[in-house]
Amino acid sequence: MTPRVSAALAHYTLAELEHQLLAWGYKPTHAARVLRTFYATGGGSQREDPAEHLRLPAGLAEKLQALSVPSLSSQLSALSSSPASSLAARQVAADGTTKLLLRLADTRTVESVLMPDFRADRAAGCISSQVGCAMGCDFCATTKTGFERNLTAGEIVEQFLALRREALAVGRRLQTLVFMGMGEPLLNLDHVLAAINRIADNRLGALGWRQITVSTVGIVPGIDALTAAGLNVHLAVSLHAPDDTTRAQLLPMGKRFPIADILAAADRFQASRGRPVTIQYCLLRGVNDSPDHARTLATVIGARRMHVNLLRYNPTGLSLKGHTYEPSSDDTAEAFAAILREHKLVAHFRRSRGPDIDAACGQLRRRTASA
Ligand code: SF4
Repeated sequence: MTPRVSAALAHYTLAELEHQLLAWGYKPTHAARVLRTFYATGGGSQREDPAEHLRLPAGLAEKLQALSVPSLSSQLSALSSSPASSLAARQVAADGTTKLLLRLADTRTVESVLMPDFRADRAAGCISSQVGCAMGCDFCATTKTGFERNLTAGEIVEQFLALRREALAVGRRLQTLVFMGMGEPLLNLDHVLAAINRIADNRLGALGWRQITVSTVGIVPGIDALTAAGLNVHLAVSLHAPDDTTRAQLLPMGKRFPIADILAAADRFQASRGRPVTIQYCLLRGVNDSPDHARTLATVIGARRMHVNLLRYNPTGLSLKGHTYEPSSDDTAEAFAAILREHKLVAHFRRSRGPDIDAACGQLRRRTASA
């Protein structure tokens, strides 16, 4: 699966590649064709070489093969001679869920996941925005190794391309993309927005704005910044508790941003887009899954036109605070959903994916690091 044009193309905006072509003495108009084909093939493969399709002027394909990442930081270039990410590990579950561990130029690793849709020709992707995470959600595997650094826009795009390649290889189309992997996307907003601009743009990734969801643990200034950015994407807010006390036990961010402030910011996003925000709620046995919790959640959301996504927990072992969280039983989860629906809320279960692999965010990375 080695691309025959440089994978560094993932790190170029259209304007940057046009500028580079001009500097080489070629027409900048070739840049749009090169990037469009590069993205369409998931960054290219041995079977589908973007350069071969394009009838490029003499010498240009070779130059594109040798292209390096623009403005590569001195820290990255000192650590590695390879500008692009490579595959460090790959797990495929019985349900077809495929988890990739990508090794970055500085040898750090991030996870990305491809999830087959029930429709045979489609799939959904989940990508990371940071290496590690500083948010400290107590039930999460990623945060156990702490925060290392933000991903660049190019590294985020590389994950998208890797998932698109995986999808193409099994006859599926990568249909939607969520920023729900490692990290808090709203704390790396500049790079996330730059990546979304390339992934969604019809001239490049062509995924479509509405196919992309940014998920946050509830960073109020970040939600407002996303609103101000004006991109036509979806927003998901990970609430995981209906009251500030329970939330602060699970998510340290709960002490900083009260639920009322988070929902007010979500209201502002929703008002600016006219599409429902999704509330993510991971059901944890005996922690946040009682009928009282469900009723409080329904009251807190009230008449807002938001959807509740109920998540099945994938256990991650001992937490930072020394707890061992368990998923709610099926009966408890169904009763929780029924209460929300009695209160006229739209509540769905998100299917648990890849239970026979390291499904929880951060698990594959930790296992690979300790192997
Ligand atoms: S759940 Fe998300 S935001 Fe929370 S620690 Fe894990 S990666 Fe970070």
